[in-house]
Amino acid sequence: MAKAMKVDPELCISCGACIDTSPAVFDWDDNEKAVAIVDQIPENVEGDAIAAQEGCPTDAIKDA
Ligand code: SF4
Repeated sequence: MAKAMKVDPELCISCGACIDTSPAVFDWDDNEKAVAIVDQIPENVEGDAIAAQEGCPTDAIKDA
């Protein structure tokens, strides 16, 4: 079963690390916060997405 993730905008400090690490899954929203741009994370980029989640300095990326 594919994973899904979401960003808590209250915790995101807009550092951009997740977008650098996993650009297929994360991008900026209109408020300059990171946001997950896919509902289900494709298997071929799941490793990058997990690395982005683990690397977020504020633990803003949650399993959805
Ligand atoms: S790594 Fe975390 S704090 Fe940085 S932009 Fe992504 S969600 Fe926001």
